[in-house]
Amino acid sequence: MGTTIPANRPAIGWRAWVLGDDGRLLSVHDSSVHGRWTRPGGMAATCMPSRRTPQMPEPHTSPDKTCHCGLRAMNLEPLLYALVDQPELIGTRPDRWTDPGRWADLDELEWRTRNNVLYMPDVIGTCEMWGRFEAGRWFDPDGTYRFQYGRVGKTLHLGAHVASWAKAVKHWHRGARVHVGRSLGAAWLDEIATVERLPSHTGATP
Ligand SMILES: [Zn+2]
Repeated sequence: MGTTIPANRPAIGWRAWVLGDDGRLLSVHDSSVHGRWTRPGGMAATCMPSRRTPQMPEPHTSPDKTCHCGLRAMNLEPLLYALVDQPELIGTRPDRWTDPGRWADLDELEWRTRNNVLYMPDVIGTCEMWGRFEAGRWFDPDGTYRFQYGRVGKTLHLGAHVASWAKAVKHWHRGARVHVGRSLGAAWLDEIATVERLPSHTGATP
């Protein structure tokens, strides 16, 4: 897009995260130490060689128009719709829930099935994004943008299935107001829409 967003006036977007077993927000796509959104100074996008396109083999500053690297952010409404209609595009799909140890002695797949959150993230909240930015690519849902830098914003919605982590989430993300959901599954998304004064997105019936 040929322009950059200054760090002192970041764009506000929305993201979905999963929780680490210490209450830190993790990227849905990367539950390793690199996916923790608690880094002082924020997250910086890097282009992983394994994710580069054949047309873009050289190292480059992320995000690049022709690549699919970068930190994702969306507007809330398309994010909520995508979580209902195309959760696999957000990355909240059963093959992601295989991190042994994240849920202590419980198998995470079984745990998520039992809690009706097989396709749900743990946290949906605002993010502050700056630096270079480009539109989403390929399999990104409509309304996705890719940024060079980002940090957790001031609003976090915590799913009811992880309500007991609220204190830990507040500890790690002190600048954010944490809303703890009351409903499970897709009904939680309607709850968020209500709190954020969006039209209820039909289709989110459990
Ligand atoms: Zn790239």
